[in-house]
Amino acid sequence: MRVDAITIFPEYLQALDLSLIGKAARDGLISVHRHDLRTWTHDRHRTVDDSPLGGGAGMVMKPEPWAEAFAAVLAAGRAELGADARPLIVFPNPAGRVFRQDLAQEWSAREWIVFACGRYEGIDERVYEHLADEGHEVALVSLGDYVLNGGEVAVLALTEAIVRLVPGVVGNAASLVEESHSDGMLEYPLYTRPARWTDPSGAVREAPEILLSGDHGRIAAWRAERSAERTRQRRPDLWDARG
Ligand code: SAM
Repeated sequence: MRVDAITIFPEYLQALDLSLIGKAARDGLISVHRHDLRTWTHDRHRTVDDSPLGGGAGMVMKPEPWAEAFAAVLAAGRAELGADARPLIVFPNPAGRVFRQDLAQEWSAREWIVFACGRYEGIDERVYEHLADEGHEVALVSLGDYVLNGGEVAVLALTEAIVRLVPGVVGNAASLVEESHSDGMLEYPLYTRPARWTDPSGAVREAPEILLSGDHGRIAAWRAERSAERTRQRRPDLWDARG
């Protein structure tokens, strides 16, 4: 999978070099390309924003650098992947569709994703129209119902959620199957050694005995019950929406 990210803060995305995503890149499972939007400005101040037409607070990202950036980034991607390669262009946006695990699963099969990070009040609307008119697949996705300062944090989250589902990225694929949200439910509670732990206040806390029983059938049933109980209590919306 090829991942491009266009941003005015490419250094923000250096975290993609770390941990499992960084290893996936070093192993050749993905390639990550960060681009500074200001590369495609032509004035002394490398301006990417201007005041909103119609008035109002804040600044809006100008369309010209974005159009040039997309032309260059898409050409570079096609040079690597072939002229027929079709990118999915993703704009993190608080007014977009809320990103969920099913979308992460779907997008983990994509060959090429281009992220575009907004800043200020957001990007001139005509950029989306231009890309759609060129026949590109464009998606606006939100991390949740709150507002960040820019799309970079969202790109880190989206990339991690998507790339960890690319086959080979997470060593033990079974660990992806029982996770929260993989089946619309939250994960059961987890325990490790020591089975009997004295916490700093002196209280003795035992792990559930069943987990030490070695009876895999009963353990699976216990976990399924805890998963259902936790989902019902913490996320009644998920519980009500289950198929
Ligand atoms: N004026 C915009 C609005 O009211 O919808 C908010 C702009 S926000 C300050 C700047 C940028 O941060 C957005 O263009 C987007 O890229 C990113 N962003 C903010 N909140 C986000 C969220 N919940 N999910 C994804 N991206 C977000």
